[in-house]
Amino acid sequence: MDTAANSPVRVVVLGGGTAGWMTAAGIARMLPGLAKVQLVESEDIGIVGVGEATLPHIRSFVEKLGIDEAAFMKATHATFKLGIDFRDFGRIGESYIHPFGSFGEELKGVGFHHYWLELQRQGLARPLGDYSLAVTAALANRFRPPAQDDTLGSTYGYAYQFDATLFGPFMREFGTSIGVERHEGLVTSVERDSESGDVTALCLNDGRRIEGDLFIDCSGFRSLLLGQELGAGWEDWTHWLPCDRAAAMPCAHATDDIRPYTTATAMPAGWRWQIPLQHRMGNGYVFSSAHLSEDEACETIRASAEGKPLADPRILRFRPGRRTQSWSHNVIGVGLASGFLEPLESTSIYLAQMAITYLIELFPIGGGIDSRDRDEFNRLVDMEYDRVRDFLILHYNATTRDDSDFWNHVRTMKVPDSLADKLELWRRAGRIEKYSDGLFYDASWIAVYVGQGLLPERYDPRPALADPQNLSRAAEQLHAAIAQEVAAMPQHREFL
Ligand code: FAD
Repeated sequence: MDTAANSPVRVVVLGGGTAGWMTAAGIARMLPGLAKVQLVESEDIGIVGVGEATLPHIRSFVEKLGIDEAAFMKATHATFKLGIDFRDFGRIGESYIHPFGSFGEELKGVGFHHYWLELQRQGLARPLGDYSLAVTAALANRFRPPAQDDTLGSTYGYAYQFDATLFGPFMREFGTSIGVERHEGLVTSVERDSESGDVTALCLNDGRRIEGDLFIDCSGFRSLLLGQELGAGWEDWTHWLPCDRAAAMPCAHATDDIRPYTTATAMPAGWRWQIPLQHRMGNGYVFSSAHLSEDEACETIRASAEGKPLADPRILRFRPGRRTQSWSHNVIGVGLASGFLEPLESTSIYLAQMAITYLIELFPIGGGIDSRDRDEFNRLVDMEYDRVRDFLILHYNATTRDDSDFWNHVRTMKVPDSLADKLELWRRAGRIEKYSDGLFYDASWIAVYVGQGLLPERYDPRPALADPQNLSRAAEQLHAAIAQEVAAMPQHREFL
């Protein structure tokens, strides 16, 4: 890169899927005057077009971009999401919600779950979800955005569930309205500097050349620049996360209710998603091709659909893992081009958003790329992927299911050391590894541990020193306050 100190960096985004338009709009909006953004996409190739459930972080992205929430939700037929309902994961017939919010709140420096474990020992505990506003509201199909001055003792956030085929066009319109220059065309070759190896231009099938200083690879699973052109390595995680296919089939709503949450139901060779949108239900079976054929998966998804199918099942193929470097030379991979983890916790769009945020923080403003920025970007992206990977593996490994080869494999496999350490911390003392940034804090881990029947051998001894009656009364008061708050919320469909 030899951009003069004050002239805008010429950014070329390859790909107009969710990742491409989020990146282009994010850079154009957040680095005004510092970057000139062009985007190349090809209608011949199209986009993945699934990916409908998100995490609460997307709200800050939408807000930073200056997008009006109501307009965005209307355009993408979005619903609100308070968490994910996991069914049959720990044991067939059992379910729990992983909420976007807390269970109770810390008291005198001791996490609420330690009090809950003590109440449980005394036989006085309600199900953990009864102390969560998000869980209680979700199960009642009710929704209202959290109040700013929430002092109830259980905080919550929310995300969106939207139609991925409408999100791309919405972001495209928004991106072009804030100055992103769009090129429709198929990239057939890539020009590189003979000395540095940096990419210098993308060549389209009609002879056009799109030159740039910085290239963002959002070309999806193809990973045209990062993977194919620069040969960035791939860390394969199939041995931990054997699901490598999905059969997706949208359906009409079967009932009048619209759930404010996603449902994930464990299946003999993977799991099934149900994502309620305003106008339909997203449906899909994520499965391991080593344990189930594509035809069998399609039959299963047809047979398990609750509403009228709106299309035939569509098979998507993927490999779980990530690039060993998401930033190589002057190319940065965002979205599927940099890695993929199955949508069990709706993390892909989050991972793209995080990469964009880190890129903006470490952006090579007006000059050459500093290798320390590149290393830091790669470190942060790896950390995010690795943490999500561990969290996903937990859902499979913390199970008593022994009803299929698939579950026997994931229940007995050796997990990554980083997850083994976290499990040990929990088992021995009910503790959660502390993070200062990134995804999945205490409540998320606690939801899955407890929800899947993995209780610790010991926990903080301080709750046992409290007067049992006081403890139980305080917990009942919290539950009653939550129930009252939820009863005052409108039905989700009504609120929409
Ligand atoms: P794509 O959508 O594949 O876009 C690639 C773009 O590159 C296209 O515009 C294409 O035209 C362009 N392109 C490629 N090659 C060329 C070329 N040679 N010339 C020009 N243009 C080119 N994520 C979530 O957060 N939540 C979910 O619930 C969720 N569910 C999912 C379920 C499944 C089964 C799968 C497979 C994914 C899911 N995801 C989910 C992930 C989510 O779909 C993706 O993260 C998201 O769509 C981003 O995709 P992308 O933009 O990286 O790639």
